[in-house]
Amino acid sequence: MRKFDSKKLVVATHNAGKLEEIARLMEPYGIQTVSAGELGYDEPVETEDNFIGNARIKAHYAAKKSGMPALADDSGIAVNGLNGAPGVYTADWSETPNGRDFVMAMTKTWQKLEDISAPFPRTAQFCCTLVLAWPDGHDEVFEGKINGQVIWPMKGDEGHGYDPIFQPDGYDITFGEMDRWEKNKISHRADAFRKLVEDCFK
Ligand code: IMP
Repeated sequence: MRKFDSKKLVVATHNAGKLEEIARLMEPYGIQTVSAGELGYDEPVETEDNFIGNARIKAHYAAKKSGMPALADDSGIAVNGLNGAPGVYTADWSETPNGRDFVMAMTKTWQKLEDISAPFPRTAQFCCTLVLAWPDGHDEVFEGKINGQVIWPMKGDEGHGYDPIFQPDGYDITFGEMDRWEKNKISHRADAFRKLVEDCFK
């Protein structure tokens, strides 16, 4: 396992929310972050059909371009009754000509389960893959997940994306109803970050 031993990390994202979340996590280790978006890089096309493959594309692209270590995140929801869909296509299911529509994406998810009369509970996982890549081509991969079920109707307006239809195991509220602090302790992303920090930043 290679340790991270520089002072600066490129976060391979154009998403300000992701950058802020990662910057906050890296702060205790004295690591300064800059995003691929801030550096003016374009976004590489995510051509793989799995989270690791796409996170690798993003992390290696930013590491090669910047000459610095780079961290990428790829995430989504995998519904068991739909054979793991939408999975890596989680964001794609929300695309419309006018931008992303997550109410439409959640409705589509539920409708597909209805169409096949999927049994209850309609189990699912949120998955997060983090890849830390170096300019010499080395990388380390960390996977996090949280189990739960897809419920209907949508509940809560706290989170983002598919949060209003995901109820984590052990809770009777959705991610959409949970306060952000609580969600960030138990989420798929928190799980992956814990592993990254333990192995590469300590
Ligand atoms: P990415 O940014 O390309 O990795 O796409 C991730 C997709 O999964 C986006 O559509 C997000 O809305 C969705 N997603 C990932 N994590 C979460 C989460 O914690 N809550 C809700 N949706 C999520």
